Amino acid sequence: MLYALGTNVISLFNSETHLLNLKPIINFLDSDYFAEGADVVRAQPAQFRPLGLTSFIFVHAVCLCVFFVGVSPIAFWMAVVLYIGRMFAVTGFYHRYFSHRTFKTSRAGQLFIALWGLTAVQRGPLWWAAHHRTHHQMSDTEGDPHSAKLRGFWYSHMGWITSYSNLPTDYSKIPDLAKFPELVFLNRFDWAFPISATFGVWVVGEILKVNAPQLHTNGWQLVVWAFISTAFLYHGTFFINSLSHIWGTRRFETEDESKNNFLLALITLGEGWHNNHHRYPGIARQGLVWWEVDLTYYGLKFMELLGIIWDVRRNPIESSAVRAQESLEQENLVAEQQVSEKQTEAKQPVLQ
Ligand SMILES: [Zn+2]
Ligand SMILES: [Zn+2]
Repeated sequence: MLYALGTNVISLFNSETHLLNLKPIINFLDSDYFAEGADVVRAQPAQFRPLGLTSFIFVHAVCLCVFFVGVSPIAFWMAVVLYIGRMFAVTGFYHRYFSHRTFKTSRAGQLFIALWGLTAVQRGPLWWAAHHRTHHQMSDTEGDPHSAKLRGFWYSHMGWITSYSNLPTDYSKIPDLAKFPELVFLNRFDWAFPISATFGVWVVGEILKVNAPQLHTNGWQLVVWAFISTAFLYHGTFFINSLSHIWGTRRFETEDESKNNFLLALITLGEGWHNNHHRYPGIARQGLVWWEVDLTYYGLKFMELLGIIWDVRRNPIESSAVRAQESLEQENLVAEQQVSEKQTEAKQPVLQ
């Protein structure tokens, strides 16, 4: 993106029309734009790229600023609430809704939970879901973007996100989501909402500094504690890609290395029952017996009770039949899209 901006900065003003050409700026800000084409980027070999760690290093470096801004009870508890609220967004929405469609909601509800998910700063919902669907399709085989078995702990934990080949969103994996322009827009400009939310946190802190000085907080203190929460959120989520395929027990003899782990289930609000999940990816619950604590599922049950979501899939057998039907529908959708793309291409005039 930076390269694209650098080479295009001269063309900001269109020489023929003398109008401001915004295309290079939009391309720079667009997470789905790749000058060489997303397919070309995706086809590159998957490998760790040190430069890709920049944003992670930045998040961890901001955490160290805690020595300058200090702590207050409200900053600490805000970080805890942000951790739980955003972990729920990742597990309940990015994972169990966008990736696996284990319940239904309205279009407005879908937009709302997409925005909520964006606050976790883990790219857009379509990017997340496309990679996760690939993980289930190719678990612990060559095409798996983050196989701990094939590439080791660190690559499956953070390394895979730095790989250039994993930057684009594979839209062929998510035709059911890509048909909503509002979701595509959020996926393209995924950075905008977390930045706005961070600014909102700073504003709240500054308001409290003036109006509630007894709380001993301020904008920068709340921002730093929001970053601390994000760092914990990152590693908690990433453990499911790394440790959940390494450490734990197995109830089902699935074809991958997925494991069940009580501790990981606690810190990820239920995602630690990963072996259960690989056996029954189409159901909303991952803890299958009473002692397999699954806080995300309890949260989803509460949302169902409020009427925000419905048709929550619980029965593994019923879910398999529904999924078979839906995957057939999805294949038809992809085929239809390919036909319409070919028709569009055929209609393009041939430029000599
Ligand atoms: Zn897995
Ligand atoms: Zn999954």
